[in-house]
Amino acid sequence: MTTTVRTRVAIVGAGPAGLLLSHLLAAAGIDSVMIDQRAREEIESTIRAGILEQGTVDVLTGSGASDRVLRDGHRHDGIELRFDGQGHRIDFPSLVGRSVWLYPQHEVLKDLIAARLAAGQDLRFGVSALHVEGVDTDRPSVFATTAGGEDLRIDAEFVVGADGSRSVVRSAVTGSSTGGYFREYPFAWFGILCEAPPSAGELIYSNAPAGFALISQRSASVQRMYFQCDPEADPDAMSEAEIWDTLQARVPGTTLIEGPVFQRDVLRFRSFVAHELRRGRAVLVGDAAHTVPPTGAKGMNLAVADVVLLDRALRALLLEGDGRLVDEFAETASRRIWKAQHFSWWMTSMLHVAPDASDFDRRRQLGELRSVVESQAGRTYLAEAYTGWPLEGLG
Ligand SMILES: Cc1cc2nc3c(=O)[nH]c(=O)nc-3n(C[C@H](O)[C@H](O)[C@H](O)COP(=O)(O)OP(=O)(O)OC[C@H]3O[C@@H](n4cnc5c(N)ncnc54)[C@H](O)[C@@H]3O)c2cc1C
Repeated sequence: MTTTVRTRVAIVGAGPAGLLLSHLLAAAGIDSVMIDQRAREEIESTIRAGILEQGTVDVLTGSGASDRVLRDGHRHDGIELRFDGQGHRIDFPSLVGRSVWLYPQHEVLKDLIAARLAAGQDLRFGVSALHVEGVDTDRPSVFATTAGGEDLRIDAEFVVGADGSRSVVRSAVTGSSTGGYFREYPFAWFGILCEAPPSAGELIYSNAPAGFALISQRSASVQRMYFQCDPEADPDAMSEAEIWDTLQARVPGTTLIEGPVFQRDVLRFRSFVAHELRRGRAVLVGDAAHTVPPTGAKGMNLAVADVVLLDRALRALLLEGDGRLVDEFAETASRRIWKAQHFSWWMTSMLHVAPDASDFDRRRQLGELRSVVESQAGRTYLAEAYTGWPLEGLG
């Protein structure tokens, strides 16, 4: 027995992209049905991104999704680049008049899920999309299955793949589940969450001879830190003492405040952009469309930028019958996506030590870092990209 539901927009994936899109569409009176294969509790407790661009904060607060970020988040006016034993602060407001906010992704998701459910959104957890049909017609459908094994069919006027890096919708758009521009990196991040007060007031991005480290914060009592590791590293293989020794050796000049490590993971790096972002009545947004290495803090912010653009395009199509913005979506979104790809790749390659780096490569890298911090133009580019290009122009 298959249950069939009808809606205007079928959204696969209740991550930041899917949830924000349904919220923005609802404000324009456009109904959507959203499914996610995971349970609500899992979505709300998975630790991922933590830096929100100013534009992302403006969208969340301006759309009425939540202003909790302004109360519980922390505004950061700069980051520090550390190399060759010295720290160099990049001061965002004086360079570009913008800031970023430290507010964990799962808190954004809690806010958006609460807002969607309070508004009566048809949001189904534990429902997995299997495939999408009819994207070249005006009536595409998502075929899914519930956790209890029942079949669900969603007939819509538009299908949105907001289903993350292992997107199922992608094959309906690109013709293959993997088809895209792709780059892998010979290193990963070993990430920890620990119970300790902050070791620094702002994020420290440190390039040390033994490899990169990022000292980041979560709250007054919980900290997030990372260090460069082998992509094959086993997160359980190191003792806590070894973790702290590794981190401490990579941030000379700062004495890290240690505390019990209660979560550890290895985060592999990939740069990916799907060959196509849209086909007929189906479109990809967020990690389904692209992934970036986390060094530039762009992942979730790029998902939000895609959605702002798509919201405008779907309003024009579904409320006014004007398909021009949908037709232009892929090209317009791609311009920002590739700028973010470049920035994420640049920060990654500038700050990490490649396993096969020669003496020349190492000295050149320090020269590159110096040419950024010692130049107003270099610092300004970094600040502009890190705090995010304005959403208004989107392209
Ligand atoms: C472990 C990890 C750590 C990260 N850390 C950082 C970081 O430190 N900084 C940073 O900037 N970015 C980070 N990112 C990236 C950032 O979290 C993503 O860019 C962001 O989550 C993208 O949002 P999204 O909505 O596009 O996709 P997602 O958040 O991945 O959401 C996709 C949703 O779709 C659901 N889904 C998938 N397949 C199906 C299906 N077949 N049917 C139904 N539902 C489905 C998933 O359950 C998920 O809830 C991290 C990502 C990961 C995976």
